[in-house]
Amino acid sequence: MPLIECPDCGRKVSDRAKVCPDCACPVAEVIGEKRQADTESEVAKTREIVEERLVDCPKCTGRGWYEVGDLVAWCVICEYTGRTPLAKASDGFYAVAPYAVERFLSGELMARTSGVVFHLGKAPPPKHRYPKAASRVAIDPSDPSIPWELGDHEPQDADDD
Ligand SMILES: [Zn+2]
Ligand SMILES: [Zn+2]
Repeated sequence: MPLIECPDCGRKVSDRAKVCPDCACPVAEVIGEKRQADTESEVAKTREIVEERLVDCPKCTGRGWYEVGDLVAWCVICEYTGRTPLAKASDGFYAVAPYAVERFLSGELMARTSGVVFHLGKAPPPKHRYPKAASRVAIDPSDPSIPWELGDHEPQDADDD
């Protein structure tokens, strides 16, 4: 029976144990999360910006604004243009807020946990829904409405319609 080290107390426990018998650390879950984080950071090393075109912003679906109830809000992700830089990594294509590109390339921002990085899928994204981008209003990266971190860590659905 292979043994692994409990990430909390260091005791050797079975690799099939869900919980450490000593400290009740949820071993399987913690190790699973660590593996996922390791894989993610390996994938993050392959990130690059695709130079030739920009992609429709998944937040506002290419319009530069979106509806909140009866109101219309400008999209701070794409800086009102409806377009964001297109990036790719070994796991597919990404839309990234313009002011988040540096942090994305450094491996810091994950699509799972940040509202400014969107995983678009394995295939290159489709053509623009609207032929022209709107004009850009540069967003200050210290603007409090920028969702650098999502509260609930829900995965972002980039292909909603
Ligand atoms: Zn333990
Ligand atoms: Zn947008």
